[in-house]
Amino acid sequence: MLANFVDNVIAFDESPVLRAGQTTSKSSITLSDRQILYKKSLIKHLYFSKELSCADLSLLTDKSLPHTSKALYELVERGDVLESGYASSTGGRRPQMYSLKADIMYIISVAMDQYVTRIGIVDMHNQFIGGQQQFALDLSANPNALQDLGEYLVAFIRESGISKDKIAGIGIGMPGFVDVTKGVNYSFLDSGKASITEYLEMLTGVPVLIDNDSSLIALAELKLGAARNRQNAMVINIGWGIGLGMVLNGSLFRGESGFAGEFSHIPLFTNNKMCGCGKMGCLETETSLSVIAEKAVAGMQEGRTTMIKDLSLNNLEEAFIKIMNAAVKGDKYAVELLSQAAYHIGRGVAILIHIMNPGLIVLSGRGALAGRLWMAPIQQALNEHCIPRIAENIEITISPLGYEAERLGAAALVMEHFDEKKFLRKTQHH
Ligand SMILES: [Zn+2]
Repeated sequence: MLANFVDNVIAFDESPVLRAGQTTSKSSITLSDRQILYKKSLIKHLYFSKELSCADLSLLTDKSLPHTSKALYELVERGDVLESGYASSTGGRRPQMYSLKADIMYIISVAMDQYVTRIGIVDMHNQFIGGQQQFALDLSANPNALQDLGEYLVAFIRESGISKDKIAGIGIGMPGFVDVTKGVNYSFLDSGKASITEYLEMLTGVPVLIDNDSSLIALAELKLGAARNRQNAMVINIGWGIGLGMVLNGSLFRGESGFAGEFSHIPLFTNNKMCGCGKMGCLETETSLSVIAEKAVAGMQEGRTTMIKDLSLNNLEEAFIKIMNAAVKGDKYAVELLSQAAYHIGRGVAILIHIMNPGLIVLSGRGALAGRLWMAPIQQALNEHCIPRIAENIEITISPLGYEAERLGAAALVMEHFDEKKFLRKTQHH
């Protein structure tokens, strides 16, 4: 009943519109490929903005109005794009607005951390459909982690019942040093010298993109969350480490080799505590959620009074949720543990503020569950350690996406690249 997205693209075949200076022989991309990619670009912008006019799309894609309107008309005719009514009046003629039909295709979103991997399906309205599947995959202790992930993905796609032609791609967020272009993770999911993305593409038959979890959380905040339309924002990922994604001049900053934002490993303490990275005294040795859990267990063994019960480090996920819940309910000990960590994160943030002069700090990731509890101790650290003139206009906010940020970011990663050559699958233009 529903038009198949891939068929639509195949069926798109009309005389090309060449601009001055453009030729078809410049690269291996043909003119019809370019038209397909242009439509994908329109779909990408509609995905992130939900609703746009033809004039908006023409501006965003830097193409002429007639060119844009022609491609848009094709997408409407095929049923991929809907006319969603008229914009509210600003005095002039109200423009026709367009939005994507939710079920023209789907994205497989994968959010990994060191212990747990979550997989879900996102539609074109950026909604998760069906349930989320979660499985334990310990990245540091499992040499077969990559194979396990591959097998899990194949089974997930098969069980979803969604035809591969309707899967735009698989986006995967993972911890570690990730080289996005080579598709390699230097910390986890050992793939030898081979590319993780190529391996998973071979197994699943679907385009795959990977990125560092904190970069994806920042991407989610930039495209859909607290940092939308902001120029300079620092997105802190409070989790098993303390990650950072930097939005500079309106886009993600990755650094020379893609490793920018290793906030967790700035040397902030002389505590002689060994960090997972091999150094000592890193920020995460006193502030990560796993350290908070370890401290909680130690304190309880020493007889600290708390409403937390049966805390075990064998299941960090569960331990962390117990501590967060107790803190949110006002348990003095749990609040104290969070506050200590938050204060030290605040010292790290003070360094960021002095170097980057951001307008916004977003507290995101799994730890954002504890909400406002992070704010006062972080502010306290800024009061103590920041030059007032630099810190006075900074806005600090808790992410509205929270624990969902990595999952949404993994889907956003696919759509962010949807108009690139990688997404010209052979079946789509023959
Ligand atoms: Zn470290």
